[in-house]
Amino acid sequence: MTAPVLMVVDEDAGSLGALDAALRHRYGHDYLVVSEASPAAAVGRLRELRAAGRQVAVVMAAAAMTAAPATEFLAQARTIQPTAKRVLVVPRGGAAAPSFRVPVPLVADRQAAMPILRAIAHGMIDAYLPAPGAGRDEGFHRDVSELLEEWAHDAAPAQPAVRIIDQQQSARAHELRDLLARNSVPYVFHAAESADGQAWLQQAGQDGSVLPVLVTYTGEVMVDPQRDQITAVFGLAALPGATVDVAVVGAGPAGLSATVYAASEGLSTLLLEREAIGGQAGSSSLIRNYLGFPRGISGAGLATRAFEQAWSFGAIPSMAGPVTALEPAADGFTLRMAGGQVSHARSVLITTGVSYRRLDAPGLNALLGVGVFYGAAGSEAAAFAGEHVFIVGGANSAGQAAVNLARYAQQVTIAVRGDSLAARMSRYLIDEITATPNIDVRTTTKIAAAAGAGSLETLTLQDTETGATQTVPASALVVLIGAVPHTGWLPPQVSRDEHGFILTGGDLTQDGTPAASWTLPRTPLPLETSMPGVFTAGDVRHGSVKRVASAVGEGSIAATSMYQYLQNKR
Ligand SMILES: Cc1cc2nc3c(=O)[nH]c(=O)nc-3n(C[C@H](O)[C@H](O)[C@H](O)COP(=O)(O)OP(=O)(O)OC[C@H]3O[C@@H](n4cnc5c(N)ncnc54)[C@H](O)[C@@H]3O)c2cc1C
Repeated sequence: MTAPVLMVVDEDAGSLGALDAALRHRYGHDYLVVSEASPAAAVGRLRELRAAGRQVAVVMAAAAMTAAPATEFLAQARTIQPTAKRVLVVPRGGAAAPSFRVPVPLVADRQAAMPILRAIAHGMIDAYLPAPGAGRDEGFHRDVSELLEEWAHDAAPAQPAVRIIDQQQSARAHELRDLLARNSVPYVFHAAESADGQAWLQQAGQDGSVLPVLVTYTGEVMVDPQRDQITAVFGLAALPGATVDVAVVGAGPAGLSATVYAASEGLSTLLLEREAIGGQAGSSSLIRNYLGFPRGISGAGLATRAFEQAWSFGAIPSMAGPVTALEPAADGFTLRMAGGQVSHARSVLITTGVSYRRLDAPGLNALLGVGVFYGAAGSEAAAFAGEHVFIVGGANSAGQAAVNLARYAQQVTIAVRGDSLAARMSRYLIDEITATPNIDVRTTTKIAAAAGAGSLETLTLQDTETGATQTVPASALVVLIGAVPHTGWLPPQVSRDEHGFILTGGDLTQDGTPAASWTLPRTPLPLETSMPGVFTAGDVRHGSVKRVASAVGEGSIAATSMYQYLQNKR
């Protein structure tokens, strides 16, 4: 197999040579290191490599180039080699600071750092790295290895667990690829008509008349398999026969966190998931505001680590299917899965999250995270300094986001379908918006399309009354049109607010005393629902902050409450 390429671009011959040598020395056996002295030459070389069918794993460009801004070159690199990781190499803290991982000159000079922060927020680059120091710079190589791991995960796993052979444009293959990718199972796809595809079909003893065909790392062959057949191969379909201490429903950040903490306290813990380990967070390409990951971490990366951590503490993960019913039982609760399977637990945690209402317009999905954001996007606010940001939504969350973003952006436009904000937004926010000169409101407006090469560049707005359209430049679109909690399957004993979010702890009491629905002499434990022994955490909880860190924090609190509940029950 041909070695993938690591490309470095720098106008300064000295630093280009040093970077080239550092990479060649460490990665020369597995990768081809290619150096170019200008962005123009690098663009030409990237095109040649694409024409030759060569994979490019990483493109690194020095921030200090003058011929063309490195960030623009890296944005262009994405259009030529979409899966390559794009890295801006920034000056390190000087020879006197060889072990600093943070580029010290940039910390001191925030203005100089702004183009970098903006480039990350706009998806023009995947990461920035301080140039390597002399000798063994393990910090630099750790970052490069992480980038290579992420690239290999998305683009070319060296050791695939599954091979999928199907027609190039098959919807079924797309579904299976999505299932495997969201569960961090490394796979490769072979078009049935390609030489590789034909070879794998032959090896699997298939003539290709029924597709897709899956070949697992153990050599098992599955022809047009159902979801549970696939999860069974990875040991994720089974359920324990015995009653467990804790059953967690939903493997997003809240569920994973609770599972880690409950299992680490010695509680037998079952983690039930219907779709993909990692939940909503797992679909985020880069979580930038989770503590401890200064350059961000992919949602899939975070989920994989958490899943492994839960497993190492002895938790039992199962993708036996969606949980469709929760019933009281002699020693706790019975949980029923859609496929008819049943599980028993002494206590239950509901961490089933929400579905954000999505906007449906051409171009939006492709720009998710690179200009198009669901949720408040507060962590991106500073990166929109001097730019034009659009917000879709007419409720308080949209108003608050507008006021926050207006502190940085040159202009903030709120687009609403209705003819005023008054229907769903508080008066005080409307007053604040009216008094903020760089916020304008476009009523009777919807988003008809979004476009941009690599990141959002234009939005097409449509007047909902006249149908007239207008295409305008836009740097970001923040969508705040509500979320629906996954609670329809719960029994009436689990009290919810008018939108379906689950009430807990303090929300179940009135003036410090439990509401009439609570029948026990004790008060509800933190994060306990109105059904004693059933707890909840994360986005699905009434009043939750919709953040990964909050979900993780609540998961750990819920695990402590469940421990306390079970101790008192024994
Ligand atoms: C595109 C996107 C980007 C985001 N980026 C960020 C970010 O950068 N930073 C940040 O802090 N937050 C971000 N968020 C918000 C963050 O992802 C959520 O706040 C967080 O995932 C909530 O965690 P949770 O565990 O409560 O729920 P979820 O992550 O929604 O997980 C719930 C899980 O429950 C499962 N489930 C549902 N019903 C059932 C059932 N009946 N049976 C079994 N399983 C079930 C679901 O399949 C899902 O896996 C982002 C959200 C989105 C959509």
